[in-house]
Amino acid sequence: MNIAIAGTGYVGLVTAACLADKGHSVTCVDVNAEKIRLLNDGAIPIYEPGLEPLIERNRARLRFATDDKEAYREAEVIMIAVGTPPLPDGSVRLNDVWEVLRRIALTAERDCLVAIKSTVPVGTGDEAARFLAEHARHRVRFDVVSNPEFLSQGTAVRDTLQAPRIVLGVDSDRAERAMKELYAPFALPYVVTDRKSAEMIKYAANVFLALKISYINEIANVCELTGADIEAVAEGIGMDPRIGRRFLRAGVGYGGSCLPKDANALYALAASYGYSLKTVWAAIDVNEKQKWKLIDKARSYIGDFRNQTVAVLGAAFKPGTDDVRESPALANIEWLIAEGANVRVWDPAALGHVARRFGDAVVCCQTIEDAIRNADVCLIFTEWPAVLQFDLGRYKALMNTPLVVDGRNCYDVKQAAAAGLIYESIGRPLAG
Ligand code: NAD
Repeated sequence: MNIAIAGTGYVGLVTAACLADKGHSVTCVDVNAEKIRLLNDGAIPIYEPGLEPLIERNRARLRFATDDKEAYREAEVIMIAVGTPPLPDGSVRLNDVWEVLRRIALTAERDCLVAIKSTVPVGTGDEAARFLAEHARHRVRFDVVSNPEFLSQGTAVRDTLQAPRIVLGVDSDRAERAMKELYAPFALPYVVTDRKSAEMIKYAANVFLALKISYINEIANVCELTGADIEAVAEGIGMDPRIGRRFLRAGVGYGGSCLPKDANALYALAASYGYSLKTVWAAIDVNEKQKWKLIDKARSYIGDFRNQTVAVLGAAFKPGTDDVRESPALANIEWLIAEGANVRVWDPAALGHVARRFGDAVVCCQTIEDAIRNADVCLIFTEWPAVLQFDLGRYKALMNTPLVVDGRNCYDVKQAAAAGLIYESIGRPLAG
């Protein structure tokens, strides 16, 4: 099929590459001319494992353009994968989605399917359908489908090719048939429902994960008070198939472009109907507090951060991505700078974002050794493989004081103590 995708971010680009890999012709459209230039030059503007070879292999079926008119005019399917970032009140900024819809109404010259992959509040698809029907410049019929995306950054290609289900929110058999034709080569199960339910499935799924993380983080906090070990607790409850092991890793809280914004958006959506979603509010509140755990723990050893050298390992919100949106590390770096600490940051993928955001206020380090050299404390925010595999003895050898406060439980508590570290982690008893 002839497909156009609006937005070449994590979702748009990965979707485009996977659809091309299954034999479709895909034109990726972005308003960011620099991204399109990079893609046309053979570079990939985001870090996502497995994406580069997939794009290379399918170059013949992929086009990258800023000209949306050319792309939308003859497309059989137009997928919307632009960003839907949060507004200060927690609701969703839909400007980019509406801009794409306006452009589609103006430019599409054949009947086409408009699939909304961006995460949008319940009811947006229905509004989009009304808008396109009213504003189509040419005599065309639009079928609007809610096709929410569930990929995770870092495993996005695999998540797309082997998705547990494809959710289709449709209002006609025709739209359902066309979407199933599009996804037929993936041979994956479908959940077919109405548009509003499909939009709600996306929020309900994401926010459930946020609840799960905040729950395990609170249990970790109670473990610290009682002397229980969160690792054993998570294993014990995770083996129950009704609960499951995933998203039960205690830490410094969830980040990224999805869970924080979607939790806030779902809360705001319910509030706009006069309903207070108490469970979701609790998850948001717990996460906000959890973000500051490492600093709280470090403070009990070093007191004031002024003039202390602080090594920060990891800036991305999780390993396998360069994304720093809503990363707990960034809020902490900002706070540390304001307190007058000398901050040295290491991250294998996201250092460019750190440098752009903080400039000379931090030292960006290419190696872990460089970051921890002469540091008074090391804070671990992201469990990158290089951190997990790092020789514990090097902390003791290189740091001023071997105080390591680990927000991702990267090391065995006893081994850390044996290596001479003053080691604090989340929800686990201290060694000895
Ligand atoms: P992103 O910010 O990485 O990319 C969005 C892209 O859209 C940008 O390159 C931007 O320049 C482009 N854009 C903006 N306006 C445009 C326009 N008018 N025409 C064409 N392109 C335009 O976003 P993302 O992380 O890929 O997320 C996209 C959507 O998918 C969001 O709604 C998000 O909530 C949802 N989502 C994201 C993930 C994820 O892990 N990132 C997972 C599931 C769902």
